[in-house]
Amino acid sequence: MSDATTTVAALRDRVRAFVRERDWEGYHNLKDLATALSVEASELLELFLWRPAVPASEMGSEDRAAVADEIADVVIYGLHIANALSIDLSDAVTAKVARSAEKYPVERFRGRARGPVPGGPR
Ligand SMILES: [Mg+2]
Repeated sequence: MSDATTTVAALRDRVRAFVRERDWEGYHNLKDLATALSVEASELLELFLWRPAVPASEMGSEDRAAVADEIADVVIYGLHIANALSIDLSDAVTAKVARSAEKYPVERFRGRARGPVPGGPR
């Protein structure tokens, strides 16, 4: 499977089947799924804790594999939550990017990570 050939629907089906095969649906309440997602995001952060910031292009293969493993955990729990709530992730992501594009228009934010200071010059 690769991003180029795999649909979001196929990933959703795969994680749904994984849970169903183990009869884990009863454990998959929203509180615990959201908590698990946060724990996995923290595991991702832990990979960088107390280490110097390294550009992505300079990250070693072992560290890259560890990041891939934790990102997978985060995405899997996101997929579980989307499945539990029947959220269309393509719609949700597209809508979110559109809202962000309105909030951070290119002409004002290109090359800038921060907006104008409240009350300051624009
Ligand atoms: Mg993990």
